[in-house]
Amino acid sequence: MGEGNLVWHKGKVEYEDRCKLIKQKGLVIWFTGLSGSGKSTIAVELEKELTRLGKLVYRLDGDNIRLGLCSDLGFSEDDRNENIRRITEVAVLFRDAGIITLVSFISPFEFMREVARERLGKDAFVEVYVKASMNACIKRDPKGMYKKAIEGQIKDFTGISSVYEVPENPDIVIDTELLTVEESVRIIYENIKKNI
Ligand code: ADP
Repeated sequence: MGEGNLVWHKGKVEYEDRCKLIKQKGLVIWFTGLSGSGKSTIAVELEKELTRLGKLVYRLDGDNIRLGLCSDLGFSEDDRNENIRRITEVAVLFRDAGIITLVSFISPFEFMREVARERLGKDAFVEVYVKASMNACIKRDPKGMYKKAIEGQIKDFTGISSVYEVPENPDIVIDTELLTVEESVRIIYENIKKNI
């Protein structure tokens, strides 16, 4: 692929310079969980709260990215891994820009979440497992996807016809059957406030 002939071209402005300029540190908050567990709902509210507190935040949402950057990808294991690889690289850039980056993707495979953690470095990466039982997600079914998956209209649907690997060592667990959205935002904020 020609990587052998590529050399990183260093700039004269570093991550630390940008942080000083915008008075914050970059951080990637990576939400993982079943479809309908509440990743996007919580990320949207956390984005609003951090912005209210004067922080520069950007949200990378699974569905939104799949409409653009990853519109050529499907839901096979290879395509899911490529989807996560690309979003990891985008998150690396955003974080390097000094931005607090909220990534809400099902990201079902432990292996790919580990790749993201390693690529970003553990100080720049916070894994939030947004937990809800399959029954709760099916009941919520905010986009009508479970109905279609159960009827067999969607193949490779996480939790129905494709695996979801529960995180082994998440930094934060948010059980959305027990917590309100506001409580979830507060817990995440309390966990990350010293790192932003
Ligand atoms: P995901 O991004 O994980 O696919 P969404 O955020 O799109 O999930 O959908 C979650 C659904 O669950 C929404 O309709 C939301 O209103 C509902 N919901 C109910 N209780 C909660 C909660 N405590 N936290 C987050 N979402 C909740």
